[in-house]
Amino acid sequence: MAYDFDLFVIGAGSGGVRAARFAAGFGAKVAVAESRYLGGTCVNVGCVPKKLLVYGAHVADELEQAAGFGWTLEEGHFDWGTLIANKNREIERLNGIYRNLLVNSGVTLLQGHARITAANEVEVEGQRYSAKHILIATGGWPQVPDIPGKELAITSNEAFYLKELPRRILVVGGGYIAVEFAGIFQGLGSATSLLYRGDLFLRGFDGSVRTHLKEELDKRGLDLQFNSDIQRIDQLEDGSLKANLKDGRELITDCVFYATGRRPMLDNLGLENTGVELDPRGYVRVDEQYQTTEPSILAIGDVIGRVQLTPVALAEGMAVARRLFKPEQYRAVDYQNIPTAVFSQPPIGTVGLTEEQALEAGHKVQIFESRFRAMKLTLTDIQEKTLMKLVVDAETDKVLGCHMVGPDAGEIIQGLGIALKAGATKQQFDETIGVHPTAAEEFVTMRTVTR
Ligand code: FAD
Ligand code: NDP
Repeated sequence: MAYDFDLFVIGAGSGGVRAARFAAGFGAKVAVAESRYLGGTCVNVGCVPKKLLVYGAHVADELEQAAGFGWTLEEGHFDWGTLIANKNREIERLNGIYRNLLVNSGVTLLQGHARITAANEVEVEGQRYSAKHILIATGGWPQVPDIPGKELAITSNEAFYLKELPRRILVVGGGYIAVEFAGIFQGLGSATSLLYRGDLFLRGFDGSVRTHLKEELDKRGLDLQFNSDIQRIDQLEDGSLKANLKDGRELITDCVFYATGRRPMLDNLGLENTGVELDPRGYVRVDEQYQTTEPSILAIGDVIGRVQLTPVALAEGMAVARRLFKPEQYRAVDYQNIPTAVFSQPPIGTVGLTEEQALEAGHKVQIFESRFRAMKLTLTDIQEKTLMKLVVDAETDKVLGCHMVGPDAGEIIQGLGIALKAGATKQQFDETIGVHPTAAEEFVTMRTVTR
């Protein structure tokens, strides 16, 4: 049967754009439908604008440090409107780049909501298209617990477009987004509280990292409230919000920001017209090669709920394009040792196993841990400490995990990700010559076993 397209991609986000461009490059006839914004979450309401706001917040640190280096600065003034307008301009530029990337690769770009009407058919704006393969790359959406007054709260989607910087803000959650945005708002001057339902935020990260970041955020005056959860939110007459906590406390604020995870975006996607099944968590069930339970339909990225990171969606998109249209170049995505950063202030960089995971997996571990005040701070009054940690297999000497909290952690951990992928041993770390004077050299000079 002749199809309109070899591949119909639903969603022009990180994974969808990568799959579409490369499939077209391999000679396939490809269409992409996008209902909202080119580049998806990462470009519009995720990684990119978030990092721009992190840079903006970090300026406060630089200003604070300036006096130690002899700079006298007049009192600074921050204007949220300027930052957001400049950020929006940059995002529009990137939207244009994504459009050109797709169109120049020969991909047919369809604007509008796509709904699957049959195993090989998609409808966009009343028009039906047939396709040999359909790729679901529809990403995720913020999830807010169903509490009275939840409509008064915002999520990351709205945070990027607030008209004004809130004077007071409650950030709810203890994952990546909560920790990053608490740092952004506090750095920019909002009186910020972070409410997390458990004992300590960033569940799943290395224990030393979690404790160290908590201590550093305490030093910065961020109001951390663990074992706290909101029961209902009410609007007061003066426009401010009252958060009623489960423990009976009441907190008055200007903004409640929920960062309590993301659900797969499957709204009105038409899966009921197909044999696509969901897993018990509600994500699209796929096999090792991203095929769903409907043979003509594949899925990648946040919607399959494996690792919700842009570089992972990109790798999955690449794998699908190769598998379908260039099988001789197909390589499975390696989910081991994925480096990642939390752009908190200070940031976290991490790759490989945490100490807890290594022990749980039965490794006999040696831990190398170092805490120090970065050289840059020695001419200032700032007492922030950097943490670096190596988790080493005591029997094979292989480095199982590298963890850091401190300036440039994301930049530093990327290189260590290559070392771990190559299977580096602690001895090879030790034999690597350091770059002096840097903070990163500590990763190759830690000699004493901490425990
Ligand atoms: P998305 O990028 O979400 O793209 C899905 C696209 O599909 C969207 O454009 C959507 O409009 C479209 N769509 C959905 N349904 C339909 C439909 N029916 N028809 C047509 N189009 C449809 N990851 C990192 O690696 N580093 C970071 O620093 C980072 N920061 C983040 C910060 C925030 C605030 C958030 C929310 C996420 C962040 N992420 C980060 C995660 C990253 O953004 C996602 O993992 C990534 O975007 C997933 O890509 P995707 O292709 O699966 O989906
Ligand atoms: P996460 O899954 O990382 O964290 C969700 C947090 O919300 C957890 O602390 C969780 O607590 C808490 N939570 C969940 N449900 C509730 C509830 N009903 N009430 C109170 N608290 C709740 O999600 P995020 O929204 O922070 O981010 C989504 C994903 O996006 C991340 O996992 C990550 O993959 C990606 N991302 C990556 C970034 C990066 O690479 N720098 C930055 C931002 C996002 P508990 O731990 O107790 O379950």
